[in-house]
Formats: sequence, structure tokens, C-alpha cells
Amino acid sequence: MDQYTPAPDLLAGRTILITGAGDGIGRTAALTLANHQATVILVGRTAKKLEHVYDQIEQAGNPRPAIVTLDLLRATVEDYEKLAKTMEDEFGHLDGLIHNAAELGTLTPLALYDLNTWFKVFTVNVHAALLLTRACLPLLGKSKDASIVFTSADVGRQGRAYWGAYGVTCFAVEGMMQILAAELEANTAIRVNSLDPGPVKTAMRTRAYPGEDAGRLVEPESIMATYLYLMGPDSRGVTGQALSAQCR
Ligand code: NDP
Repeated sequence: MDQYTPAPDLLAGRTILITGAGDGIGRTAALTLANHQATVILVGRTAKKLEHVYDQIEQAGNPRPAIVTLDLLRATVEDYEKLAKTMEDEFGHLDGLIHNAAELGTLTPLALYDLNTWFKVFTVNVHAALLLTRACLPLLGKSKDASIVFTSADVGRQGRAYWGAYGVTCFAVEGMMQILAAELEANTAIRVNSLDPGPVKTAMRTRAYPGEDAGRLVEPESIMATYLYLMGPDSRGVTGQALSAQCR
């Protein structure tokens, strides 16, 4: 994907929702998609961070984004339906949905894993993704070329000790992606894929690997080609795939 050169206006006319848009990879993805002329809907739990991203997009002269402050741990079915209704009134369609927000939980053996943390990680990483997807499907169906991306990780493709709820939810997300892709392939223009960003310098990575030399990690900016590819017309017809943003 390093070779992919997206057109400057690749995403013109497209409306794309991204969760966890206030920080880390989600923040950079929101800025990058807007820079390629997408209208981005910034979803996250910390209003100040989202407002900062909003201001950066406005200052760059890119399409005006929208902010939706939503804590995915507490959001109800009604909250997701309200969000979908607002998007329908405002934009009429949705062309991209990037499930990016995630909780890491703790790195603990399964036998000792704190159950409250387990349920929280599942709520944000799996249940919120399902509820948001369900609420958005009618709007995605109104796009002539829609793309859903579930963010995953290598620990959701090959089990690894101590990754606990996070690892198991990544497997669940991969499964949800495959099932949804198969269900939508025949009768819709909605493609569904998963994306492992690989090791990237963010707050979550530091929490997972506190002793690591962060200077050796790539910045979120350097993995954006795959996000642009998946959100734009060049990935039309690609569905049910588990992709990686970095060659390793
Ligand atoms: P960060 O922790 O840096 O950012 C995560 C974002 O998600 C933050 O903006 C955070 O909000 C938001 N978020 C977390 N919980 C909630 C919630 N309950 N409701 C709403 N928003 C929430 O993570 P990364 O940027 O590193 O990770 C992005 C994605 O990439 C995740 O899915 C992660 O699992 C995946 N990934 C990351 C890797 C890496 O090396 N960084 C490697 C493999 C996968 P707030 O800003 O308020 O904290």
C-alpha cells in the first residue's frame, strides 16, 4: 500500500464517520480524509479533543466536519438511532464508516482477568461497533459506493498470551467483518473489511508497551494510505478482507 498515490480530491462528495476521532490514529485519519475532501463525522467521548480536530480541518479550508460526542461505553440503541437520524437529515447518505475507537483493558491471564474490565472492553470494541453499524446500514445503503472498516490488530488474527479481552474482541471484530461482508456482498454496494494498523506511536501503544522505545515506532501519518484506499473508489469490490496497514 506504500505505493498507493491517492488523488488530492479522492474523497470529494463523500461523508465518512470515524469513531475515536479525537486522538491517535483516528485523529490523523480524520484530518487525512478531510484533506482529501471528505466530510468527516467526528465521533468520540472527549469534546475538547474533537473540537481541536474540527478547528484544524476548518483552518485547512477542508469540508466542514461534524462533531458527535458519544461515550461508546454508555451509548444506548436510541443514541445510535438518533445519530443516524441526524446524519440522514444533515447529509442524506453515508459513504464510509470507520470503527476505530477501542479500549485496551489490561494485559492479564484469562484466569485472572477482571470481569468488569472484560465487559467494558466488549461493550466498546464489539457491541458499540455492532450497534453503530446497524444504525448506519440504511444510510450506507443510500451511497452508491460505501465502505465499512473494522479496526483490528495482529492479536485478533493469531491468539497471543495475556492479551485478554482486547485480543478476544479483535477476533470477534474479524468475525463480524466476515459475516457482514458475506451478508452484504450479493445485494448491496457496501464493502466491509478489517484493518490492522500495525505498531503505531499512540497513547494506546504506550499503555500496551510502557517499556518500549517509542522513537522506533511509526507516526499515524505514515499508515494513512490504506485508510484512503479503503474509503475511496479504488477499493470498490474489495470485501471480506483482513488488511494490514504496514508490511511486517
Ligand atoms: P488511542 O488510545 O490513541 O485512541 C483511541 C481513541 O478512541 C481515542 O480518541 C479515545 O478517546 C477513543 N475511545 C476510547 N474509548 C472510547 C469510548 N468509550 N467512547 C468513545 N471513544 C473512545 O488508540 P490508537 O489510536 O492507538 O488506536 C486506534 C485503533 O487502532 C484501535 O482500534 C486500536 O485497537 C487499533 N490498533 C492500534 C495499534 C497501535 O499500535 N496504536 C496497533 C493495532 C491496533 P479519548 O481521546 O477520549 O481517550
